[in-house]
Amino acid sequence: MTDAGRRSELAAALAQVHERIERACTAAGRPASEVTLVAVTKTYPASDVVLLAGLGVTDVGENRDQEAAPKAALVRAEGATPRWHFIGQLQRNKTRSVVQYADVVESVDSVRLAEALARAAVSRGAPLDVLVQVSIDGDVARGGVAGDDLWRVSDSVAAADTLRLGGVMAVAPVDWDPDRAFELLHGLSERLVKLHPSATAVSAGMSGDLEAAVRHGATHVRIGTSLLGMRNLLR
Ligand SMILES: *Cc1c(COP(=O)(O)O)cnc(C)c1O
Repeated sequence: MTDAGRRSELAAALAQVHERIERACTAAGRPASEVTLVAVTKTYPASDVVLLAGLGVTDVGENRDQEAAPKAALVRAEGATPRWHFIGQLQRNKTRSVVQYADVVESVDSVRLAEALARAAVSRGAPLDVLVQVSIDGDVARGGVAGDDLWRVSDSVAAADTLRLGGVMAVAPVDWDPDRAFELLHGLSERLVKLHPSATAVSAGMSGDLEAAVRHGATHVRIGTSLLGMRNLLR
């Protein structure tokens, strides 16, 4: 496809996603300005990120360092400067790479990972924003903290000079009602804000369940498929 063709395809999809967010906000009695769209560009090329940035997208999400690091470099070389959110499971040996391009790491789920990020982030000019990923169903193998680990990991992030605790992130389990999942996340967020008043971010909601997330206080929705199209499942 030509660049112009892809641009108009992305523009149309972006308009639809914004309309869904606005409708969900209106229904929830919330201003649409409270919800930030994070365009999840994993598996899609740097050229799509550049086009989205040109269409006004301010935040993009990636889940693998091997893919994100070169993509972020290409996007920067094109003069586009979106905020990069790292949203995937992160190995401690990748933290040095991730802190070079990420503005936010949304998937911190252990004290050891928080400590590794804090050390790596010393090389940055500014603190790294961090969200603690919550496992809604307690199956931590797929990422996220369960139970009291939320408070332990949050305290560890908040104590690090090079990190800034921003809030929580979660993915609704596939076999759960998303309203129930995001209601639970919202309750945890309210408790977190009592302990850490500036940690107000709630990253929740994907292409299939953004409306439920907005109903339950999401401040960030992470949208891939509805914006960029179906991803190749073979990866
Ligand atoms: C891929 C991904 C998304 C986007 O999912 P879509 O259903 O394509 O919108 C959101 N969050 C995380 C953590 C992801 O890995």
